[in-house]
Amino acid sequence: MTHDSRLTTFVDTHTHLYEAQFDADRTAMIERAINTGVSKMIIPNVDAATIKGMLDLVKQFPANIFPMIGLHPCYVKPESYKPELEIVRQYLFNEISFTNHSSIQTPQFVAVGEIGLDLYWDKSTLDIQKEAFELQCDWAIEKNLPVAIHSRDSTHILIELLKKRKNNPGGVFHCFTGSLEEANEILKLGFYVGIGGVVTYKNTNLRDTLKHLPLDKIVLETDAPYLPPVPFRGKRNESAYTKLVAETLCSVYEKGLEEIAAVTTQNAKDLFGI
Ligand SMILES: [Zn+2]
Ligand SMILES: [Zn+2]
Repeated sequence: MTHDSRLTTFVDTHTHLYEAQFDADRTAMIERAINTGVSKMIIPNVDAATIKGMLDLVKQFPANIFPMIGLHPCYVKPESYKPELEIVRQYLFNEISFTNHSSIQTPQFVAVGEIGLDLYWDKSTLDIQKEAFELQCDWAIEKNLPVAIHSRDSTHILIELLKKRKNNPGGVFHCFTGSLEEANEILKLGFYVGIGGVVTYKNTNLRDTLKHLPLDKIVLETDAPYLPPVPFRGKRNESAYTKLVAETLCSVYEKGLEEIAAVTTQNAKDLFGI
């Protein structure tokens, strides 16, 4: 362990550690993240099938790994979204007998997520994606939890939906890649902006956008195993690379790594209560 990693800790606020890409070396990969200073990792499930893998990791690393629960917009399908949402509701409101369905008794979910809209893969489900999003926002408010929002080709729609709500749960737009105008709307709604590997890419405006956004509204993430930062593009992403995202923020904000780590870790704590 390096000197740096002892002093500097990071939170990966969005990582899919249960994915099959990690089957061969999952425990070693998570330990590598912890040894790099990524002391906390927050996992969203995406559907009912990914809950058990997530909760098994929470049991294995209770001090480091924290779960969310939600139905991802890409998994909102006409034939299955209602029973899928019912499973989310039962987990969230502790109505499931955890001994039967998972390896831990009472998981403490730190957010409802990931939820949102995805119009890249399937536009035909927009209406039921909206329905699932609104319902899960209502549950988050009822449970006093933030939401982790997935937005692809749909940020403007999500902003309008949140503006129309009587109250919104607050949370984070994860893996944000939108415009400065959208970022400002998101901040006005009280949301945080999740920044991942895209900020390291050559062909992105995200670094310029970030210069206009306050660091105390930014949380770090990887979205592993997807969207790896430079120099790992085309390879598998993992939570240890949160540090590469933080290092890019050093040049954006002209601050040292310790300060970037301290502020974003505090932001994650404020948002998720971890
Ligand atoms: Zn996502
Ligand atoms: Zn994700």
